[in-house]
Amino acid sequence: MTHRIVVLGAGYAGLGAAKRAARRLRGTGAQVTLVNAADRFVERIRLHQLATGQKLLDLPLTGLLDGTGVDLVVARVTGLDLPAREVRVDAAPYTLGYDTLVYALGSGADLDTVPGVREHAFSVAAAGEAARLRSQLPGLSSLTVVGGGLTGIETAAELAAARPGLRVELVTGDRIGAGLSERARRHLHSALGRMGVAVREHAVISKVGPDSLQWDDGGELPAEAVVWTAGFRVPGLAAASGLATDESGRILVDRTLRSVSHPEVLGIGDAAQVPDDLSRMSCQTALPMGMHAGVVLADLATGRPPRPVRIRYVWQNISLGRLDGVTQFTRADDSPLGDAVLTGRASARFKEAVSRGTVALMRYSGLPSAARR
Ligand SMILES: Cc1cc2nc3c(=O)[nH]c(=O)nc-3n(C[C@H](O)[C@H](O)[C@H](O)COP(=O)(O)OP(=O)(O)OC[C@H]3O[C@@H](n4cnc5c(N)ncnc54)[C@H](O)[C@@H]3O)c2cc1C
Repeated sequence: MTHRIVVLGAGYAGLGAAKRAARRLRGTGAQVTLVNAADRFVERIRLHQLATGQKLLDLPLTGLLDGTGVDLVVARVTGLDLPAREVRVDAAPYTLGYDTLVYALGSGADLDTVPGVREHAFSVAAAGEAARLRSQLPGLSSLTVVGGGLTGIETAAELAAARPGLRVELVTGDRIGAGLSERARRHLHSALGRMGVAVREHAVISKVGPDSLQWDDGGELPAEAVVWTAGFRVPGLAAASGLATDESGRILVDRTLRSVSHPEVLGIGDAAQVPDDLSRMSCQTALPMGMHAGVVLADLATGRPPRPVRIRYVWQNISLGRLDGVTQFTRADDSPLGDAVLTGRASARFKEAVSRGTVALMRYSGLPSAARR
């Protein structure tokens, strides 16, 4: 009987998994279906660039899947029926049955933990949200980015570099780039200072109003517009369907990426968490997880024991506009490797090459051109 694989989400994790599984299972009769809400692949790691008006590559999924044998369904996933092994989607064919399911629905901005964020703040976590910020930018004279993690730093720097007249402030509850080495953080501070970005650390925001931010000690700061980057959250679909998740809703998976509660379901990318593992929400985790899931899917479909994954980190790459950056080299567990840091144009060029590499990987079918026809 045909082995039916359904992959939910065509991001860095899901697209890689679907293509690799299809390649490995070519000729076996297995069927791979990829479901995604949009018909395009979104280069999510460049959405801060989109927000400032830069053009991103147009990447139709049909083009990326050409010749792979993967069936594409453009629809939003609305529910999972785990006992029936069915997925519900909001467009034809409305229901998809599976033998193995891959859950790769990624993450979005956390708009609900702090009051007022959903109503008053912008975000750069999804293409539509970044485009909304882009459309409002020309009318703004100042902007406050909340969140001192990598996305907040990149967003503040990109905005300041692209719009020199715009006053940009970066506010964070901790220190900016808290997990980086002192050398990397020194470069962040001096680069942001040169760009005119005002940095405010140790300020925990408890409420966002229409034109202000409130501190947890009751203080208030005027804010013409706010970009919220303080935290990502995953869709509630996995937890609602009965899959075992952590407290944030990420699917708990074992080292073969199979759900600890439902082994016929694989969880990958931002939406999954390997227990006792960092699984940092990042492209750096999603890509290898997706590639490995392709191998596990082929193992499962052909009756082989699935192989365990080992996620290892090498660097954290932060762009500071198009001409500057910080690359912090890390140990395999993502902790900074002392002062092994690249800065300035060399880092910017390195990050650009890595970002292009992710698209090259998404384009790669792994098949010789003759076999693809
Ligand atoms: C501005 C920004 C900059 C970043 N920079 C970096 C960086 O430099 N390096 C790095 O490692 N990481 C970076 N990240 C994080 C990185 O983008 C994510 O970790 C990565 O995209 C996760 O990949 P994924 O495949 O799990 O999810 P995603 O890429 O989010 O893909 C999920 C897919 O699922 C689809 N989907 C979601 N819900 C549904 C539904 N209900 N029905 C159908 N389809 C659905 C989405 O449309 C999307 O196509 C950045 C993120 C942002 C926002």
